[in-house]
Amino acid sequence: MEKFIVDVMLGRLARWLRILGYDTIYDSSYSDDDLFFKAHQEKRILLTRDSGLAHRMNPSYCFFVSDQAVREQLKQIITHYQLNVEDYLFSRCTLCNSSIEAISKEKVRGQVPEFVYSSMDEFFYCPTCDKIYWAGSHIKQVRELIANLSAENENV
Ligand SMILES: [Zn+2]
Repeated sequence: MEKFIVDVMLGRLARWLRILGYDTIYDSSYSDDDLFFKAHQEKRILLTRDSGLAHRMNPSYCFFVSDQAVREQLKQIITHYQLNVEDYLFSRCTLCNSSIEAISKEKVRGQVPEFVYSSMDEFFYCPTCDKIYWAGSHIKQVRELIANLSAENENV
């Protein structure tokens, strides 16, 4: 499974890759050298909007993201790396990139809004930043968007 590192221009793309379940690091304080070395050290694919930086990298570990819109960026990456957009969906924290874990309903009582607690049965949490996730309506929207992107790719 591919691992990614993205430059400072691609924070929103990083969140989307995490939603798909791909290990993606992003830190707005990383310099070009940090990106370059981390990509090599951790065998991550560098996604960048900076063509100069892209030229410094081994092309098999770097992808120049040409589009400005995050939707098109995501489509580019899904197509280029043939990402699996189903099996790992919602397995990673979108804030910090850690894998999220199932947590029992009783344990989230009082930590999520009451209407969420009463209407949901499945909860997950991030052990690193303690964020609690549940299968709300946004999950349906995300699934639809990804299904649309995949359908568009098949038509190319
Ligand atoms: Zn987290």
